[in-house]
Amino acid sequence: MRVGVLALQGDVREHLDVIESLGHQGIAVKYREELDNIDALIIPGGESTTIGKLADRFDLLEPMKKRIAEGLPTLGTCAGMILLAKATTGTRQNLLAELDITVERNAFGRQIDSFEADLDIKGLDEPFHAVFIRAPLVQSASDDVEVLAVVDGRPVLVRQDHIIAASFHPELTKDDRIHRMLMSSVVER
Ligand code: GLN
Repeated sequence: MRVGVLALQGDVREHLDVIESLGHQGIAVKYREELDNIDALIIPGGESTTIGKLADRFDLLEPMKKRIAEGLPTLGTCAGMILLAKATTGTRQNLLAELDITVERNAFGRQIDSFEADLDIKGLDEPFHAVFIRAPLVQSASDDVEVLAVVDGRPVLVRQDHIIAASFHPELTKDDRIHRMLMSSVVER
């Protein structure tokens, strides 16, 4: 499979490494033509305002939104989750708005900027060790959004059809099960 990773800012290399370790082809996406030939897309963690601004400047926002709306299996991690969301609380920034959730950025508090947790994830047998870095919080989600994992009762992994979003960083651990979920979604389609 050809899996694009939006390569404007953030932890692009880490996602490409996971894709390649799973035997697929990773494509760093910077230009709109590169969106045409991919089977799945990953929007990485980083700074969502920066990624949103650059995506606009590189004329990627609308083409990406269109591909996702047409059913391109997509995984967003951390800042990627924010970019996929319909809305954020408080900030005004460029969003793809294809995932029916509202997120609060940096929501786990300044003191605990970063933390790790073992998550029980729906559909996975063993817990997933998740790394959170200035993570967003899903404040509300429509009924079309399935919650796959929570921390303190708050959703941290969600899915809506072909879109999966994690408020943590699956690319920073050796566990590739979230990336495999994305690949399964390609096979299902
Ligand atoms: N705090 C970042 C944002 O709001 C996201 C952090 C991350 O991707 N690790 O965009």
